[in-house]
Amino acid sequence: MSVSKDASEAPVPRSIVVVGASHAAVHLADRLRSEGYTGDVTLISHEQHLPYQRPPLSKAWLEGEATDETLLLRDRTYYANERIELITGARVQKVERESRGVRVDYARQGSCVSREFDRLVLATGARARRLTLPGSDHRDVLVLRDLDHARQLAERVRAGPMVVIGGGFVGLEVAATARSLGAEVTVIEAGTQLLGRAVGASTAETLLAAHRGMGTDVVLGAVPAEIVRDDDGIRGVRLDDGREIPAATVLVGIGAEARTELAEQLGVVCDGGVLVDGQCLASDGWTLAIGDCATHVSHTGRRFRLESVDNATEQANTAAAVLLGKPCPRRSAPWFWSDQGDQKLQIVGLLGGHTSVLVRVDPEKPRRRVALYFADNALIAAECLNSPADFVALRSALGRGYRPSPEMLSDNTIGLKKLLMPVRS
Ligand SMILES: Cc1cc2nc3c(=O)[nH]c(=O)nc-3n(C[C@H](O)[C@H](O)[C@H](O)COP(=O)(O)OP(=O)(O)OC[C@H]3O[C@@H](n4cnc5c(N)ncnc54)[C@H](O)[C@@H]3O)c2cc1C
Repeated sequence: MSVSKDASEAPVPRSIVVVGASHAAVHLADRLRSEGYTGDVTLISHEQHLPYQRPPLSKAWLEGEATDETLLLRDRTYYANERIELITGARVQKVERESRGVRVDYARQGSCVSREFDRLVLATGARARRLTLPGSDHRDVLVLRDLDHARQLAERVRAGPMVVIGGGFVGLEVAATARSLGAEVTVIEAGTQLLGRAVGASTAETLLAAHRGMGTDVVLGAVPAEIVRDDDGIRGVRLDDGREIPAATVLVGIGAEARTELAEQLGVVCDGGVLVDGQCLASDGWTLAIGDCATHVSHTGRRFRLESVDNATEQANTAAAVLLGKPCPRRSAPWFWSDQGDQKLQIVGLLGGHTSVLVRVDPEKPRRRVALYFADNALIAAECLNSPADFVALRSALGRGYRPSPEMLSDNTIGLKKLLMPVRS
């Protein structure tokens, strides 16, 4: 594998190609232009649609409150006005380093196009993980990753009982929305808590009670063994203990896998995603990868991949700086949100490696709960349920590197905003 010279020494490219045209790619293009870049910017997207926001697909769009138009990341005229070449309906099949930059081959409308660019950014995102159980190839076993999936799901929401396999963010958001539309919903989760990889036990317990309160049947510790069909379609989901849960539609929400095929062609290191450094550079020191397709290394050496709009946006900002030879912006604390019915969850910081947890519940408004995570007596992350003001204060504190101890935040009679306020000297 050849390693090119340090990216900061590279000249500003005359042309930049981004594979993918979603949150990360569109934000990168926008940032390049707002930073004054006048070279060519090309986004190549496999999807037919104009770039759109994914988070509403399981929430407002599915509920009918957002439309295809309000989903759009930018309106139709934006790309032409900003001289951003947007190629939709085109799958990039091959990327190859060349002396000048990169050769990109893509298929569009039955023909293959081969073009050269100075720099390459991979913003290929992730694909929904599929089930491989007997019966799971039935057309009414759905996943939700893109607008076409969402349309299939919307058609089935009122078609009879729905089973959601997987108590992760997408599954729970769909369950809550489907309930609000009157569907009979069962969530089956193999683990002993909801959102096992993402939140702590206290937040998970609260959300479990909330989903049950919405009328969703949540079955924990349940392992699906087969999608049972009959002549009319799907009849149910059989668990490994023999129980059968009735279903006309199954939504599989068991996570997503980074799309790394193109990175693998380039021979860069991939580990559950394209491995990148703090400058979003892959192991060849030249290819950039941003958003859901990228695997990061934490300051403790832990490898992790984030699937969030905030991460896509922050990495796009970093990549723009690297491409333009400017200093990288300081990254604020990573954050994420999930709306599940009337439950608004906001998370800031990275969970993992914590040594203590402090849960604060507003005595006057018990719906408002905050779980604070500490490592070595210093705040590292927080989960806020229905507490947007606390979230703002925590995000600001973690963003400016303030790491209070549990003792400093334990007095429940004083609001977090006050406890976390910067001290003016
Ligand atoms: C239903 C749902 C709800 C979500 N809710 C939230 C939320 O509440 N909060 C939050 O922070 N995040 C949420 N997310 C996650 C968020 O949407 C992602 O983190 C974000 O979309 C990542 O953007 P991205 O640009 O990295 O990748 P993606 O959005 O995955 O886009 C990658 C694009 O690249 C295209 N592509 C891949 N390979 C090729 C190729 N070879 N040629 C051409 N095109 C290619 C893909 O077709 C895709 O369009 C949600 C995601 C989903 C699916």
